Amino acid sequence: MIQIYNTFTKNKEEFRPINPPNVNMYVCGPTVYDFFHIGNSRTFIMTDIIRRYLEFAGYKVKYVMNITDVDDKIIGKSIEEKKSFKDVGVKYANYFLEDIKKLKIKEADVYPRPTEHMDSIINLIKELESKGFAYNVKGNVFYNVLKFKGYGKLSGKIIEDLESGARIEINEEKKNPLDFSLWKKAKDGEPYWESPWGKGRPGWHVECSAMSCLHLGNTFDIHAGGNDLIFPHHENEIAQSEAANGQHFVNYWMHFGFLNINNEKMSKSLGNFFTARDILKKYSAEAIRLFFSQAHYAGPLNFSEDLLFGAQKGLEKLNNLKRKIENELDSGTIDGVIPKLDFDKFKTAFSEAMDDNFNSPQAVAVIFDFIRDVNKLISETTKINSSFYTSVKNFLEITAGNVLGIIDFTKNKENDMATKEKELIELLIKLRQEAKAKKNYTLSDKIRDELKELGIVLEDTKDKTVYNIIN
Ligand code: AMP
Ligand code: ZN
Repeated sequence: MIQIYNTFTKNKEEFRPINPPNVNMYVCGPTVYDFFHIGNSRTFIMTDIIRRYLEFAGYKVKYVMNITDVDDKIIGKSIEEKKSFKDVGVKYANYFLEDIKKLKIKEADVYPRPTEHMDSIINLIKELESKGFAYNVKGNVFYNVLKFKGYGKLSGKIIEDLESGARIEINEEKKNPLDFSLWKKAKDGEPYWESPWGKGRPGWHVECSAMSCLHLGNTFDIHAGGNDLIFPHHENEIAQSEAANGQHFVNYWMHFGFLNINNEKMSKSLGNFFTARDILKKYSAEAIRLFFSQAHYAGPLNFSEDLLFGAQKGLEKLNNLKRKIENELDSGTIDGVIPKLDFDKFKTAFSEAMDDNFNSPQAVAVIFDFIRDVNKLISETTKINSSFYTSVKNFLEITAGNVLGIIDFTKNKENDMATKEKELIELLIKLRQEAKAKKNYTLSDKIRDELKELGIVLEDTKDKTVYNIIN
């Protein structure tokens, strides 16, 4: 039985979907005004692992992730890039889809975009207005927080505390500083849609309420996102959906810890980020996924390239075994000894770890224990029956492959070669550094220049050397 820590109840609870074996799951996705960073990837990868594990456990998951394609930042970017907001949204949404594919994230069943759901969004706001939860001030429509009795029930925040802590906003239109925008009146030159309140566009929170309920029903199983979304985003989603539909909104709320740099959240606004696209130039998707899997999804995680490099190294153990299995299975059936290995024990341990609120670090530990035992048996046995390698491959395929996505048996040897090339470049960089340390500049320059001839350009930063491949 799967246990999930539910932010709503602050307890680990048995997972009971509304309509098993179906599971309906919604994840707050990106706002597409730029490339996404490796911090966002943590949320995207960990929800992917949770979805894959639910499928491994026999559930049929309907997975919905929104792509916010109208927003202040997108409008800002459209001015900067001298493009329409629509073109900016399409461009970065396409980059997003390309990059999550490279990260081996399974495709969602639906990627709803607000620009394609304007009717549902407007209808939801109309419903809130007719029930007295929304008010219109000259084309700007706000949610009346004080009207909703359960406001604060997800985040545990108390309205009075929020009010006294709220910064005095220069917005005379709001009845209460905590009220939030459902519909924003279009300013000159801004994109707009026609609505009962005039030309304008929706607020961010209402998009997720409208699109999640449309695709998954008024009450659905799992809603996930980063910790930063608990308040106000998810609190507001509850207020909107429950007030409009008169039904309980979500059964399990799941939240992900931040990826930090020097103990500070990685974010666009702080400028302390690396894009997933850039990281993918140096590290494989499997290494990035292993790096994230080694930490529990709920806690904070510090990012450094050294840690990522460590994950890449750790992956070698898995890849060495993979190569061994492939070579053995390629060389035809061998009728030898079948070493004794309790596969069921490892399968159970893997499931127990993941059943326990998706304890992926524990699941990774099970896989590495398994590899250690297999390697030991291989070294101790002279002629091994091929069926043993098939069983080892099956175990790794369903756990490390299908669930965690840290090994890919479909990856061909050409891709393996690409990994080898990266390792060779890193080796040359290391040799160049050693030459420099010994003041052998003739050699270090030769390495740099000859790599450049091959289109591999080295760049010395403060504490390390990075490379770019120029085609
Ligand atoms: P955004 O595009 O900023 O709205 O974020 C998209 C998703 O990534 C949301 O679910 C965020 O909560 C999540 N996210 C943003 N920054 C981080 C971070 N540093 N670590 C983990 N998740 C993050
Ligand atoms: Zn959302």
